[in-house]
Amino acid sequence: MRPFLTSLITAATVITAAAFSVGDGTAIAAADSGASESVAEDYHAAVDVIADYWAQQAPEMFGIDYEPPTVRGVIDPGDATACGPMPEMNAIYCPRDHSVQFGSDYLELADSIGDVIVYDVVAHEWGHAILAQVPSSLVEDPQELQAECLAGGALGDLARDGVIVVEDGDLEEVVKLFRYSDAPGDAHGTAEQQALAFAAGWRQGPAACFE
Ligand SMILES: [Zn+2]
Repeated sequence: MRPFLTSLITAATVITAAAFSVGDGTAIAAADSGASESVAEDYHAAVDVIADYWAQQAPEMFGIDYEPPTVRGVIDPGDATACGPMPEMNAIYCPRDHSVQFGSDYLELADSIGDVIVYDVVAHEWGHAILAQVPSSLVEDPQELQAECLAGGALGDLARDGVIVVEDGDLEEVVKLFRYSDAPGDAHGTAEQQALAFAAGWRQGPAACFE
């Protein structure tokens, strides 16, 4: 396991307050046991709201014929994807078949960290699927922080629209997640860079990710 993930788990007690829920207030709190069930619920809810969000926003925002990624679901490490075996503790956007897939072990982190991670991971991979379709002149290289910005942008807009509800916490608590995911040299950037990218999108929507 990568060190920063261990740190994330250690930090879980700090972050349990960050809970997202969908709809009119049925809380889906990570603190509830029956954990895997709750992760699955969060996963499906996250895919639903992110898919709807981009189906509505992408054509207008980017002037493109938006093609949603194929959602290949939650798979186990080692399972085949069009981009090779699923790595441990990861989620993938695969450009070869324009698909997203999520490692079961990775999403299970929600049991200890909080369900916010499920929303963030789904929104992040979807961000890559968006970046694959916008004019390449708009896409940063590496695109990780831009994908994280788009995750914040989509989730921020969804929160503003009342589609998702951030409970018992706010942006600070979301941002705490990144303080423990510092991986120097990783294309995803340092914790601070990730937090700033997420926060820029969260506050201003996806347009902030193309400035
Ligand atoms: Zn990424």
